Amino acid sequence: MDDRLKEEISAWLDFYRELGIEDFYRRKPGTLSKLEPRNLEGETRDSKLETRPALEPHLPELDGQRSPLSLQPSERAPSPEPRTPTFGGVAVPATPVRDLKSGIQNLSLFEAPPAVLDRETLEQVREDLGDCQRCKLAKGRKHIVFGQGNPHADLVFIGEGPGADEDEQGLPFVGRAGQLLNRTLQWVGIRREDVYICNVVKCRPPGNRPPEKDEVDACSPFLFRQLEAIHPRLICCLGAPAVRTVLGLKEGMLKVRGRFYDYGGAKAIATVHPAYVLRNPREEKILQEDFEKIREFLKGETGKRGDG
Ligand code: URA
Repeated sequence: MDDRLKEEISAWLDFYRELGIEDFYRRKPGTLSKLEPRNLEGETRDSKLETRPALEPHLPELDGQRSPLSLQPSERAPSPEPRTPTFGGVAVPATPVRDLKSGIQNLSLFEAPPAVLDRETLEQVREDLGDCQRCKLAKGRKHIVFGQGNPHADLVFIGEGPGADEDEQGLPFVGRAGQLLNRTLQWVGIRREDVYICNVVKCRPPGNRPPEKDEVDACSPFLFRQLEAIHPRLICCLGAPAVRTVLGLKEGMLKVRGRFYDYGGAKAIATVHPAYVLRNPREEKILQEDFEKIREFLKGETGKRGDG
């Protein structure tokens, strides 16, 4: 036996071993041409060693009968007529396969479902707000403080209204209360850039007084549209004005804080305002405790937010 043939046989044996076939027998001389199946060119498998045979499924033969799949096409029973699909016993027209396929081909994995496509964006809300003069706060402001953060945040914080620093910079929670908010976020391992922060009113009330009813009535529709655009999983109301505006709760803060409420398809939690903690430093643990609940909620809620 020459070396090339040995190599080829060895390659074939390796190939069969890889398939789990370990036992090999020598065929009696002269039987090859009768037993060996031939391919279309009339060559035996052995005569074209580089062509590996296709793996065919092992089909069980039941009661000595051949499996229907091993029958030649001409031996098989004719295919049944296509059946009309039924729904609850009532015939419904079948969707042609062609239409189904073209529908699927037209769908992109990256296309959002209609509920998401219809949703207003934060930019649209901001544009509509414009150079707002809808309430008396407009007169005294330097900047409208619209909001800041991730437009697709899972978590939104709502404060009361801008203070002097916020009015100066046009950004929410950048003064001392903002620094405490940042520290508390850090404490629970949430990054400020991952959340969205805004207020019940977007212009600074004079002397940092709480916003009045007509101011809240004029401004809150924009807040609600922001929430709808962001579609968060959790809203955190910081202080009584946010709790009253968003959740409609009039009870004292210490009664409503630390609990989860339904807000549409999302949840909301109430906690004390960081400015309250600045005035009452011993109450910092309340804020920390409630932020830990926020962290646990976000960790536990692994599913996607309910769209629609
Ligand atoms: N207090 C608030 O309620 N909002 C701010 O943006 C800053 C301080």
